[in-house]
Amino acid sequence: MIERPSPNHAARQSAVDVLVLHYTELPLDESLKVLCDDRRPNRVSAHYVLAEDGTAYRLVAEDRIAWHAGRSHWRGRDALNGASIGIEIVNLHGDRHDYPEAQIAALIALCRDITRRHPAIVPRNVVGHSDIAPRRKVDPGLRFPWATLAASGVGLWPRAGAQPIDGDMQAALQRFGYPPAVEVTTDDVVASFQRRFRPSRSDGIADPETRALLADLLDQVKHQA
Ligand SMILES: [Zn+2]
Repeated sequence: MIERPSPNHAARQSAVDVLVLHYTELPLDESLKVLCDDRRPNRVSAHYVLAEDGTAYRLVAEDRIAWHAGRSHWRGRDALNGASIGIEIVNLHGDRHDYPEAQIAALIALCRDITRRHPAIVPRNVVGHSDIAPRRKVDPGLRFPWATLAASGVGLWPRAGAQPIDGDMQAALQRFGYPPAVEVTTDDVVASFQRRFRPSRSDGIADPETRALLADLLDQVKHQA
């Protein structure tokens, strides 16, 4: 772990129970520069930056708020910076560029370390920026290996073969954690769900496969916090 303190942080008012994963859109050096810049009109930061070779940089202590999530929503709460830890993973566009194996191995180790220290970060609370800010954000992108992470105990991944969920898709998505269709449409929220859990087709159409994947995820979290 390389210490690279950022001046962009604030005091926490609430406990940590969400982990948000991002990609940087910028190379490592530029990412560190932006995330440590306190003269920008919109100051941003993250707790950690993960280089492509797996080197981890600590910018903000976990007991301080970092400014990575922006307008966001998960499981009934808005503005998730206050309750979350944010990791910026160096990748120029996660829809187009694979994440190197060494980077993902280091990410899994870092996430496991974080969730061990913050047991309130249950698997369903390990999210992508795109989950908590549909339409506005697409990171960590279609090529992000969520299934590999879930196989290592970080976040969830749906099993195939569940009975498709009936009825109101928006309500079911919100039961899992997704935002209400307030500043976005239900299609946007469905597309965000697909981006995460069915990256082969993220078209916003709540087809039977999408409904089945959501049914399985809701079943997985039925007895969880
Ligand atoms: Zn992001």
